[in-house]
Amino acid sequence: MLDFHLHLARLPDPRELDQQLAQRGYSYIAVACEPWEWDAVAGLEKGSREDGNSGLAGVAYGVHPMVAAETTEEYLAHLQKLLRENSRAMVGEAGLDKRYPGYEAGGIQEHVFLKQAKLALELGRDLQIHCVGDYGRIVKLLQSAGFNGHGPRPVFHRFGGDTGTVRAALPLGALFSLHADSFRKKSTAAAIGLIPHENIRFETDADETFMQESDRVTAQESAHVSAQECAHVSAQESADLAVQKCAGLAVQKCADFLVKKLEFVVQKFNEI
Ligand SMILES: [Zn+2]
Repeated sequence: MLDFHLHLARLPDPRELDQQLAQRGYSYIAVACEPWEWDAVAGLEKGSREDGNSGLAGVAYGVHPMVAAETTEEYLAHLQKLLRENSRAMVGEAGLDKRYPGYEAGGIQEHVFLKQAKLALELGRDLQIHCVGDYGRIVKLLQSAGFNGHGPRPVFHRFGGDTGTVRAALPLGALFSLHADSFRKKSTAAAIGLIPHENIRFETDADETFMQESDRVTAQESAHVSAQECAHVSAQESADLAVQKCAGLAVQKCADFLVKKLEFVVQKFNEI
């Protein structure tokens, strides 16, 4: 199973989590949205090559619209350098989000998105797109940047558009990455039925908030297991080891929960 959009660096103990995911036959694209995360993902990718057995199937570096307003030319130069050094990396996630500054037409979000769209075309890389707001505007921007169905593909991550979006984006070669949330809106669920299977991907988009969700869901169970395990460990070993072992349990839980979450998305898709 392939998770097409995962924020590995925002999850606990990413190196260990990567190993746990590999053991479960779970591979993923590690997506990075801002400079600290680019560096963390680049480090994880290097480590994964050295470790051999890894779930990391690809990486994406970009500027998320949540930080578009803070973007500087140095930022973008650093991004370009990272992308040029790694010929397999995708661009993104990049896009528009009405909840953050600079969303207005011609604003900083649009400027930063277009820069990345053009960079993806120039380097021949797929573009992971984040959109909370106007999908029609994103499609127009992609067309104006030069996406035309040949070469790099736009990837609508956590897809939430409608049938109009699918019809307009398919000629651009678009992929649609489905998340559990993609099935919430009736208009999106209806649109998913129009997408050819080869253009569908699945994702969890898991980040730091995912662990809170995972904690809520498994709170009772994990409190029970951890309390037993931790009590056992601390009776015999040092406090340091006890902490390590408890952290290890948290990582296992996270890996199990990711598997469940991705399986759920695939199941929702199969029901359509
Ligand atoms: Zn994301």
